[in-house]
Amino acid sequence: MGFLDELTASVGGVSTTPDDLAALATDRSGASSGSLPLAIVRASTVDDVRQTLRLAHERRVPVVPRGAGTGLAGGAVAGRGEVVLDVSGLNRILSIDPVDEVAVVEPGVITAALDRAAGELGLRYAPDPASAEISTIGGNIATNAGGMRCVKHGVTREAVLGLDVVLADGRLISTGRPTVKGVAGLDLTALFVGSEGTLGVVVGATLRLRPLPVHTLTAVAAYDSVLAAATACSELARARREPSLLELLDGATLRVIDRAQGTDFAERGQALVIAQADGAAAEAEITAIGEVLGKEATWTSLAADPASSEELLFARRKALPSIERFGRALIEDICVPRSRLAEAFQGVERIADARGVEIYSFAHAGDGNLHPIIAYDRTADRPPEAVRQAGDDVFALALELGGTVTGEHGVGLLKRDWLAREAGDDVLDVHARIKSSLDPRGILNPAKGF
Ligand SMILES: Cc1cc2nc3c(=O)[nH]c(=O)nc-3n(C[C@H](O)[C@H](O)[C@H](O)COP(=O)(O)OP(=O)(O)OC[C@H]3O[C@@H](n4cnc5c(N)ncnc54)[C@H](O)[C@@H]3O)c2cc1C
Repeated sequence: MGFLDELTASVGGVSTTPDDLAALATDRSGASSGSLPLAIVRASTVDDVRQTLRLAHERRVPVVPRGAGTGLAGGAVAGRGEVVLDVSGLNRILSIDPVDEVAVVEPGVITAALDRAAGELGLRYAPDPASAEISTIGGNIATNAGGMRCVKHGVTREAVLGLDVVLADGRLISTGRPTVKGVAGLDLTALFVGSEGTLGVVVGATLRLRPLPVHTLTAVAAYDSVLAAATACSELARARREPSLLELLDGATLRVIDRAQGTDFAERGQALVIAQADGAAAEAEITAIGEVLGKEATWTSLAADPASSEELLFARRKALPSIERFGRALIEDICVPRSRLAEAFQGVERIADARGVEIYSFAHAGDGNLHPIIAYDRTADRPPEAVRQAGDDVFALALELGGTVTGEHGVGLLKRDWLAREAGDDVLDVHARIKSSLDPRGILNPAKGF
């Protein structure tokens, strides 16, 4: 029996219709392999996942794990001869323990749905990628996703206590434990977090929740230059302040938001910093943050309740949708030591001038994680040469400043060459050895990550 016949006979949810294949062949990065995958498996049980991998391992057929396909690095892109293993249908929240502050979930649970369910018990799932309403916990784990709250509460890795993972040959292992502490054995949980579907398929996760803060207060300040705004963010660190959110938007981003949303942020300054403080001491903390941010600001505002806080966050939430309203965008994601954030913003401005392209930049400033968004024409089916060159310049800038080519989106298909430059031969060799010990036939998401 051929592979496809055997797969269809032993696993439910297999499709080979061209429409299905085309719909799940790419991800939100728009990257493409240029061909359609062999088949799609929409898994509805852990056994479907195990059986698919067991067969694929036996027949040496490559498998591309997939959550919601919102990835921005091409990690879920699949092509000729590959099977897409879609686990978004495994989407139950199995338990939330209010005393242990632990949730046990399947990988297809939508991130914001878990956060809301935890909220009913006075808890929250802290990592909050901007895609929380559309991405899955499994995809977040596979990419070690970050978000605005991560400056205080940590990225996805900090929230994962344990994982159920199906290995390339179909074996199911459980890593970690449901306890907050635990150091028995190698930290395999951390190894799978951020491994982009190249080492195993996550089919279950034990996640740490946090108490929902009693207050969240917001301060906003505008500046006459992005340099002044980035310097104000550094001053917060120097003053030992602890914001629970710290975002910076440059002048180009403010102008495009105004154009798309009819707001007037650009009239207040050439850059905007949004900070929040949460917890019982939020009031004292936001006052101290406001004082530091206010020193060189051209405009400031403070929100004391959730509704006006949300209004002040409006600019940040609308940044990407506003840019995409007028064309297509190459969404980049570098991270630099936060003391070098000002240099990163200035470097990106120089790149935009030199390449003659429009770049809108905003940052999770507290993490030094900058998103330069390089715009191009809606009618182009792929980024023009100048845009791609500007993207490469941005990666080179990140490395020059002692940073990384990806803070949260991952390496995927798009940044493999840059990972090689960042990590170097010896580190890549260690990656390859780990990969071959877990996936000796190289079937899991080949050509992605490392
Ligand atoms: C508007 C928008 C905003 C975004 N904002 C953020 C942000 O703030 N922070 C951030 O970090 N990212 C952000 N992203 C990127 C993206 O949402 C994240 O990378 C997210 O974690 C991907 O989840 P997903 O379920 O869509 O995974 P997919 O795109 O389906 O897959 C991503 C990678 O994970 C692997 N994978 C998926 N599920 C599993 C699994 N169960 N087991 C093993 N491997 C798996 C895939 O093979 C692939 O390599 C944004 C994307 C968009 C479109």
